[in-house]
Amino acid sequence: MDKPDVIEHFFGVYLLYCENPKYKGRVYIGYTVDPVRRLKRHNAGKKFGGAWRTSNKGPWNMVLIVHGFPNATSALRFEWAWQHPQLSRRLRHVQKKKTREKTFDYTLNVLSAMLQVGPWCRLPLTLRWLDDAFAEVHSAQISPPMHMPISYGKVTSSKHHRKLRDNHNNKEPVIEDSLLSICDICYMILDKTDKVMCIKEDCQLIAHIICLAKEFIKDDKILPIEGNCPACKSNLLWGHVIRKKIGSNMHLNEFHSDSSDNDS
Ligand SMILES: [Zn+2]
Ligand SMILES: [Zn+2]
Repeated sequence: MDKPDVIEHFFGVYLLYCENPKYKGRVYIGYTVDPVRRLKRHNAGKKFGGAWRTSNKGPWNMVLIVHGFPNATSALRFEWAWQHPQLSRRLRHVQKKKTREKTFDYTLNVLSAMLQVGPWCRLPLTLRWLDDAFAEVHSAQISPPMHMPISYGKVTSSKHHRKLRDNHNNKEPVIEDSLLSICDICYMILDKTDKVMCIKEDCQLIAHIICLAKEFIKDDKILPIEGNCPACKSNLLWGHVIRKKIGSNMHLNEFHSDSSDNDS
């Protein structure tokens, strides 16, 4: 096996493809500072730090990753737009997914469009294919600007250098995977402690608990009871949203206490 390229100060946004025959064709877009570790966690399930949407649906294949973002916020914004092209004002010109179009092809079309528009077309990004077979079939679907190299093969981040530099220069701290994302309602950064998700499995909505509560509160009521998800329009009971949040927080805590020994 070839050794992975080691990159310092790594911020990447990756695309997972589901290889499980039962869910084949599903995709997942995520942000990471360590793609090797991140993929292991997706395939280990949510108890071990995987995302709720990918747990028990593996194996997932990390097909490609875009890296070279200057910081976590920049990568998180890219992740959000790629996940929500229909909501991003920079991507209004991108055609909606056609009924017969495969999700994977549509996802690549969106990525291709994103690399052509500002601010992303001006960033020193690299498009890296992690799976040769996918690269062979699909690489023609994406044509990045001339200054963006296309790479092949594994990549990993150099953690030790990162820690040292961050301590000395007082730079923006490295934001761990999945602890932060962007609210679909107010577009501000979202911490896991006040994050809620839609309960529909295929819906990508994540939001601040306050933002979703405001959507649900009607008339003169003080507490939210039910409402429609702003993304998938399903009718949701507030109690179900909260129950799911409590469930996912418990898994996160479990994970942090289990792994504290190995992280040093
Ligand atoms: Zn919000
Ligand atoms: Zn929804």
